[in-house]
Parts: sequence; structure tokens; C-alpha cells
Amino acid sequence: MEIACLDLEGVLVPEIWIAFAEKTGIESLRATTRDIADYDVLMKQRLRILDEHGLKLSDIQEVIGALTPLEGAVEFVDWLRERFQVVILSDTFYEFSQPLMRQLGFPTLLCHRLITDESGRVMDYQLRQKDPKRQSVLAFKSLYYRVIAAGDSYNDTSMLGEADAGILFHAPDNVIREFAQFPAVQTFEDLKLAFIKASNRALRL
Ligand SMILES: [Mg+2]
Repeated sequence: MEIACLDLEGVLVPEIWIAFAEKTGIESLRATTRDIADYDVLMKQRLRILDEHGLKLSDIQEVIGALTPLEGAVEFVDWLRERFQVVILSDTFYEFSQPLMRQLGFPTLLCHRLITDESGRVMDYQLRQKDPKRQSVLAFKSLYYRVIAAGDSYNDTSMLGEADAGILFHAPDNVIREFAQFPAVQTFEDLKLAFIKASNRALRL
């Protein structure tokens, strides 16, 4: 049996924080782990900025609700789900991803969660576990599933390494160079072919 594990942001949907910064015009929300390496520092800063702008969870979901999956992503997920059990492994939050997941038909998603108060103010966040993507792959392997994984960035590489087959999709040049052991593709058509190639079954397009 085979499971397909997919990253979410940059693979199926835009980078949510960056798209959110663009929609709201709040420049300071554009910072990512490339600017601030410590994820906790980065998240605390983001939550403070949301507070400063008086943005409640419902406001945020409304803005994110206007975003759409990347072109071809919905069709790709449908294609993949006909051939594999599909699980999305993401470092986003359930409450943020909800509007985009709805457009993808709510495939299974393992990610983190936000903690809100009664008024809907985002107070804090809760990470599911350390190295969550790799841990999920390990768990599926312990159930005797063969895992094929695809992702676009540094936070995916431990997942790709742990999987039986790892694929880079939409990855920037520096990641492709640094992780040359993984095949790298840029279009959903090539990603389909990469999954077919990585499968131990005779699949067709
Ligand atoms: Mg990503």
C-alpha cells in the first residue's frame, strides 16, 4: 500500500502569510523563516501584528477565503486521490488553512493549531510535535505503508529523506542544488509523472 504525502504552501496553495500580507497591505507580515530563523520569535511577532491591527480569527479567515489554490492544484489533488491515499503534511494552522482546504475538497491534513479566546482573538499557537512531517512519514511506515512525498522547501527535506521516495516540486534553485538526491519538477504534469515513476504499481496518467 502506498501513501502520498504533500506539503501544502508553495505546492497546492500560495504561501499563506505572504498572500495575507498582500491582501491586507500589512508589509511587516511578509517576514518568513528566511528573515527570522527562530520560528517561535517569528510567530510571536505575527500574532503581535495581528493584535495591533485588531484582526480577529474571523477577519483573517475572510481574507484567506479570498485566496485560491495554485492553478491546476485542485485537478492534481483529484488525480492523486484516485491513485493514492493522500495526506497533506503542513506547518500551517487548521484555522488558517480552512478556506483553502475547502476549495481542495478537504483532503486529510496534519498541521498545527491556533489558540483563540472567546472573542476570536488569536492568543497563541500550538505546534503538533517537533519535526512533524518526518514523524508522520515514520508513523505511516510503521503501519507498513510505502510513502512517496513531495514538497518545495527546507521544512520538507526531512520528510522527503524519510519517505521511500521524495520529490521536490516548485523548489527554488538553492534547495534543488543542496538536495540534489531528490528529483525536482516544476509543473503538475511532471509531478504526476514523478509519482507514477516513484510508485511500485503500474499507474497511468
Ligand atoms: Mg511549502
